[in-house]
Amino acid sequence: MARIGFVGLGNMGLPMAQNLIKAGHQVAGLDINAAAVERLKAAGGAAGESAAALASGAEIFITMLPSGKEVREIYLGASGVVENANADALLIDCSTIDVETARAVAAQAEKKGLMMLDAPVSGGVAGAQAATLTFMVGGSTQAFARAEPILKAMGKTVVHAGGSGNGQAAKICNNMILGISMIAVAEAFVLAEKLGLDHQKLFDIASKSSGQCWSLTSYCPVPGPVPTSPANRDYQPGFTAAMMLKDLMLSQNAAQAVGARTELGAAAAAIYSRYVAGGEAGRDFSGIIRFVRG
Ligand code: NAD
Repeated sequence: MARIGFVGLGNMGLPMAQNLIKAGHQVAGLDINAAAVERLKAAGGAAGESAAALASGAEIFITMLPSGKEVREIYLGASGVVENANADALLIDCSTIDVETARAVAAQAEKKGLMMLDAPVSGGVAGAQAATLTFMVGGSTQAFARAEPILKAMGKTVVHAGGSGNGQAAKICNNMILGISMIAVAEAFVLAEKLGLDHQKLFDIASKSSGQCWSLTSYCPVPGPVPTSPANRDYQPGFTAAMMLKDLMLSQNAAQAVGARTELGAAAAAIYSRYVAGGEAGRDFSGIIRFVRG
């Protein structure tokens, strides 16, 4: 059993923290939303006073925050986690943020002799609730070995992606594939409609042919072929279009920073940006087919 501090008890963080409690850990949490902290307490957790106080009393300190801005605020500065964490604390940021911030914050932690990992996830809210998340982890082998049993209480697959920032790199590369492939599948269904080809027929053929991919066979953007996909419930999320756009922008910013040519990634970011601007931010990202249809 470990003493764990957890900051960011939102859609993902709260069920993750609850799974740590179920696994027998002692969890104290913090969120700017008081109702979220109350829900953690109802599940057997405790309320923390500040991120710095949580980190000074914890063996493991975890964050699940919206973006790099909040991660910098919580970890850096005189009253931040890096300055105040106990010397043996292992810091784990599970938020999806830019690679640069992940590496900068980990470097500050290392300067203070602290271990830090970036460990973003895939699997969504359902995966967070069912403890079936995939963790992509960047940082030292020693820190990874210490974190692995803790992360396994919240997920099914835990992969060490390499040094600091590589977890974030894996996450944005994966989601760039996903954003592009969802648009590709949506365009194929819309073209099929105009050519008089039935949705189910295209699915039956493409799912057994070279067009096969996760966006088609697990998350099909038209209702019918995959009963569990959000298309069957009016594109209720799931994974929102706003989140997809966030990750596509992170991958575009990273591509520009390192001079990688990602033209389809740029096109996908532009398409999702127009979809979100049309008032569909909270819709599942597979709803992009409605935008493609026009
Ligand atoms: P969310 O907005 O539901 O949760 C974020 C929480 O952080 C909120 O409860 C908010 O009040 C809290 N918070 C913000 N600033 C804070 C601060 N300064 N101090 C304390 N608490 C603060 O978001 P989410 O859906 O839980 O996502 C969290 C992270 O996980 C994001 O980086 C997101 O990109 C990533 N992610 C989300 C999903 C998903 O399907 N929702 C999937 C994979 C990854």
